[in-house]
Amino acid sequence: MENIFDFTMSELEDRLITKGYKKFNARQVFEWIYKKKVSRFEDMSNLSKKLREYLINNYDFSTLEVDSHQVSNDGTEKFLFRLEDSNLIETVLMRHDYGNSVCVTTQLGCNIGCSFCASGLQKKKRDLGTHEIVMQVLKVEQLSKERVSHVVVMGIGEPFDNYLATMRFVDIINNPYGLEIGARHITISTSGLVPKIREFAEEEKQVNLAISLHAPNDEIRSRLMKINNTYSIREVIQAARDYVEKTNRRITFEYILLDGINDDLKHANQLSDLLRGINCYVNLIRYNYVEEFSYRGSSEERSNAFYLQLKRRGINATLRREKGGDIDAACGQLRSKKV
Ligand code: SAH
Ligand code: SF4
Repeated sequence: MENIFDFTMSELEDRLITKGYKKFNARQVFEWIYKKKVSRFEDMSNLSKKLREYLINNYDFSTLEVDSHQVSNDGTEKFLFRLEDSNLIETVLMRHDYGNSVCVTTQLGCNIGCSFCASGLQKKKRDLGTHEIVMQVLKVEQLSKERVSHVVVMGIGEPFDNYLATMRFVDIINNPYGLEIGARHITISTSGLVPKIREFAEEEKQVNLAISLHAPNDEIRSRLMKINNTYSIREVIQAARDYVEKTNRRITFEYILLDGINDDLKHANQLSDLLRGINCYVNLIRYNYVEEFSYRGSSEERSNAFYLQLKRRGINATLRREKGGDIDAACGQLRSKKV
């Protein structure tokens, strides 16, 4: 048995054509699953009986069970889902004035092990399959009975360390016969795996790319992110430049403001020198406290000063408000609950 949520439209088309069915049958299946949210092939009434039988005999629907569910004061919801092998993953639904966005998890744990991040406290146990990532969005739509218009791949895990599943996930949720989430409404965040940034630039997808930079020089970045010993800032920035040139798309750099570590005005100056001439913007993130670490987020005052300094030096920046902090649903607060 294969999982129906693992298939992109073109893969399903190829499969059905090989079996003697029509290309448009794949669209019909997609509409049943993703638009009508039907989870039994028996109920797909416009398919021939023969096709329904073929589907029943060869594919199944994965399930995600809700283990627990929390709602924040600001309307953010955190779901703890149980996978079929009983591992638990976290998915977050955020409500914005422009629509609902879902933050998905791509791995159980994370091997990148950044020194400030709760998700990295646990070594990667395994990658999630495409269907397990797709199901997070579908399940949140089913449970909330609201449309999800935006997706951020910023939950637990490094998406570029689970590259193929992430790309297929994007393809599936973007499909017009499926969840129809616009590519420009999808953002993938990476810790900076340079070969994968280069591969991603070749994908010809309109998906947004965000790179977790968090430091203006190698000395600080290596302390925060040991991945910097493998791909230095210079290499990451060059890959980002090439990405922008190749895709004509703006790139985002994420930068957590950590008190006394990377939030000095001289760091803002270094950062602006580093990014000069790149079509980019810097997303300044407030650090969400993680009790296992000694890091503290920068004060309001220092954050604003940093932000203004970037602006003054001609760098686009935003100082983001966090959602869901009261239920540990904010960025970097997610963690796989069970070993
Ligand atoms: N592994 C990918 C995507 C998941 S993390 C990456 O690192 O980019 C998504 C974002 O949350 C990253 O920018 C990450 O650095 C940031 N983050 C991690 N821990 C955080 C925390 N405690 N507070 C705020 N942001 C955090
Ligand atoms: Fe992994 Fe991203 Fe957390 Fe680093 S910040 S440990 S890459 S999830």
